[in-house]
Amino acid sequence: MTELTGAAAVVGLIGRPVAHSLSPRMHNRAFAHLGMDWVYVPFEVADDAVSAALAGVKALSIRGVNVTVPHKTAVIPFLDELTPEAAAMGAVNTIVNDSGRLVGHNTDGSGFVRSLREVAGFDPHGARVLVLGAGGAARAVAIALARAGAERVAVANRTESKAGRLAEAVARHGASSAGLSLAREPLAAELRAADAVVQTTSVGMAGDPSLPLDPDLLAPRHLVADIVYTPLKTPLLRAAEARGCRTLPGWGMLLYQGVEAFECWTGTPAPANVMREALLEALRGKEAEA
Ligand code: NAP
Repeated sequence: MTELTGAAAVVGLIGRPVAHSLSPRMHNRAFAHLGMDWVYVPFEVADDAVSAALAGVKALSIRGVNVTVPHKTAVIPFLDELTPEAAAMGAVNTIVNDSGRLVGHNTDGSGFVRSLREVAGFDPHGARVLVLGAGGAARAVAIALARAGAERVAVANRTESKAGRLAEAVARHGASSAGLSLAREPLAAELRAADAVVQTTSVGMAGDPSLPLDPDLLAPRHLVADIVYTPLKTPLLRAAEARGCRTLPGWGMLLYQGVEAFECWTGTPAPANVMREALLEALRGKEAEA
């Protein structure tokens, strides 16, 4: 790490827990690479301390923080402004302290879209996408896809009513949409015309061998993205590769939400390759430990 001076700028992460986060490694590696007098620090914040934590951000002139589970919605009442993306998603993952005004951004969705372009070489403009899941991450991804000009963003979820509510929100951002269950027939019909599938449920995480859909429904023309990043290659990505599909692993979204947060705070292009190396090193280390 670069030696810090008295003028060092501080950014960080608020959430609970934060000990597992890989963001400090990505950002501190980037600051060191660019020789910047900046540091990224994790702060564990209890549910009843969100307001105090944000008052602390202002009082200590912290330049900005990432926000993770469970505070992405809870921070909103304490912010001075939201970007249109954050307002549309109803969630904030990045706060910029603009000389005492706290501005809430959401780089989860835009980071996912950037990973589609930068890592997978897939342009969502005009594309037809099936999103599996309707939780917080699905909301960011589906709305960002609609805002990026996707023609259709259908949502399929175990709890179908939640898929329906997210589909209504997606449709307000200009894409055609539908809320589906995870039953085979509706998925098969949707996939016949789809260009890409984005898996946003927690299925397939860390040792879970299950698949969120039958891989027989996949065809080589589908790009299959999984936002789960532990393991690096999820059961769905393995099955999709075996079917001849192009794939996008979950580290892409994690990397580019960080790249975009870095750029929001510093106004400097982020060294994405350096951050990618730090992130993949940490993820491979976790896999070796498991
Ligand atoms: P969440 O809000 O709790 O949503 C969980 C989603 O998974 C819901 O749609 C839920 O369906 C579904 N689900 C859970 N268990 C299931 C099962 N056994 N079968 C089918 N569906 C199931 O969580 P989240 O914040 O959206 O996060 C979801 C995943 O994305 C996590 O693995 C997280 O690590 C990952 N993530 C990755 C990134 C990244 O940067 N790559 C960022 C954020 C999140 P119901 O509605 O029916 O419960």
